[in-house]
This record gives sequence, structure tokens and C-alpha cells, in this order.
Amino acid sequence: MKLSAVIPCYNEEGNVKLLHDVFNKVFKGFGSYELIFVNDGSRDNTIVELKKLVKSSKTNIKVVDFSRNFGKEAAMYAGLKEASGEYVCIIDADLQQRPEVLLDMYNYLVEHDEYDSVCAFQDVRNEGKVLSFFKNTFYKLINKISDVNFVRGASDFRVFKRSVRDAIVSLGEKHRFTKGIFSYVGFNTYYMPYQAEERASGVSKWSFISLFKYAILGILSFSTLPLKIATALGCITLIGSFIYLIISLIIGVNATTMLMFFMIAFFGGIQLLAIGIFSQYMAMMYGEVKDRPIYIAREIISNSKK
Ligand code: UDP
Ligand code: MG
Repeated sequence: MKLSAVIPCYNEEGNVKLLHDVFNKVFKGFGSYELIFVNDGSRDNTIVELKKLVKSSKTNIKVVDFSRNFGKEAAMYAGLKEASGEYVCIIDADLQQRPEVLLDMYNYLVEHDEYDSVCAFQDVRNEGKVLSFFKNTFYKLINKISDVNFVRGASDFRVFKRSVRDAIVSLGEKHRFTKGIFSYVGFNTYYMPYQAEERASGVSKWSFISLFKYAILGILSFSTLPLKIATALGCITLIGSFIYLIISLIIGVNATTMLMFFMIAFFGGIQLLAIGIFSQYMAMMYGEVKDRPIYIAREIISNSKK
């Protein structure tokens, strides 16, 4: 198998057949490839459409049908696990990422042996100023506080060699932040600019809140700096409280009643902040320790002759 395409699908009933058709048109004469659709607990008829494809299509198709919605990260992981190609790619189901661009990325990778991976990245995005500001801040912050490098605008739309796929699959962490995992495993990546299209049908599943949570996950997964900040804050307030004690003794307690209330609130706040940060990491550790699977598949269907 030359290429495996991993396609996470959540409520994409209107898109899966379309993507399949466009893909086949673009990759006509390409050689052997497989489409691995992961139905991430869709609430619409995505699975019905996928089963139809498995029956009718001449293309190698595999469908991993999740028992519920586990999220795009889990869907990508499941798809990568099933991928048997020499090269593997990840592409969205909604045709925002064109198979034509994928073919260009693949060709670039094959022609440039020094690269292991080609990642599509968006220079210009049609998004609001507020969202853009938050994204910029996130990337600046995470690049300062984490050892691995995050590229602003880099998408999950990628094609890479099997060795990269193997490395990614070998990282079995439960709270997955794929952008970080790709940076973490290293390899030489070429960033190819592209412009995302409009969705063929349906709506985006990302809200501001879900993006915010995702950003927090990225920070917690790839940096322990917040813990150090919490510790530093603790030290500073401890020293501060001694200074406060000395000052109170010198100027008399009554004069400082006002200040005292402020201090109590201030210390209380810092303590809560520190506990809050600790518990975020604890919660993540708890998730890892429970060792639950990243996804549960109801079934895996395939039309391949093997
Ligand atoms: N997706 C998924 N599980 C989810 C959310 C999204 O598999 O819980 C898939 C979705 O079907 C699509 C891709 O991930 O193929 C990207 O999602 P979406 O188009 O909503 O994101 P956007 O393009 O707006 O960033
Ligand atoms: Mg999309």
C-alpha cells in the first residue's frame, strides 16, 4: 500500500461520499491507496453512508466505527493505528482540505527525501480578530514555556512517512494534543502554505470554549512551567508575609487593618490559584493512571480482499 488516508468524521453524512469521489478522481492512476474513515460517534447518518461506500466502492476502504464520540484526536489516533501504507496522511472529511493539495504535498515529500513529513499550514485565516488574538497569544506562550516548537497555523492536514506514523502511534498518552505530539516526535517537516476551503456541508464542531480547552490541554501536556510559577508564587507570598509582619510591628497593627484584609484575600487567592494549577495536572495524571483506552470501536469494517 502506497498511501493510507486517515479521515476523522463526526456528523459528516453529506461529505463522506463527496470526499471519496473527489479523492478517487484526484488520485486516479496513483497506485494503491486506502481510505480509513473513522466514524467518531456521529449522530447523523454518517455510518450509513460509510457502509454504503464499503459495499459499493472499488477503492480500499476501512471504517472504524466508534461506540461514541471520543473527539478528533482519538479518531486520528485510531486511523493511524489502522494505517498500513508506506506513507500516511490525515485529511478532514469536509473538503476544507482539498485532495489536490494532498497530492502536491505527497509529491513534494517523495521528491525531497530530506523531509519525513509535509504539513499544510495556513498563512491567512478567515477568522475574527478576537480569535486570532487568542491564537497568537497561545502560540507565543506555548513556544516560550515548552521545549518543543509549535508552528502557528500548522494544521492536522499532513502527509508523512511510515516511520513518523510509527512514532506517533507509539505515544499512547490519553490526553492527546496532536500538534504537540508531531512536534515532540521531531523529524524533518516541510510546511507548505495552503488556503482552507469552505466546508462542503455541515457545520464546524469547534466553538470558542472548545478551542480554549484545547489550548489548555496543549499547555498542560507540553509544559510544567505553570507548576513552577505556582511554586514561585508560593515562595514570594511567604517571604512577603514575613515582610508584612515586620512592617506591621513597626507601624502598629491598627494602621494596617485595611491592608490586612487585602493581604488575606491576596494570599487566599494565590493559594487557590496554586491548588487549581496542581489539580489540573493531577486530573491529567489521574486520566493517564486509569489507563482507559483512547477509543472504543464498535466494529471495524473493510472491503479489502486481504
Ligand atoms: N471531527 C471528529 N470528531 C470530533 C470533531 C470533529 O472526528 O469530535 C472531525 C470532523 O468530522 C472533520 C474534522 O474533524 O472531519 C475537523 O472538524 P471541523 O471541520 O469541525 O473543524 P474545523 O475545520 O472547523 O477546524
Ligand atoms: Mg472543517
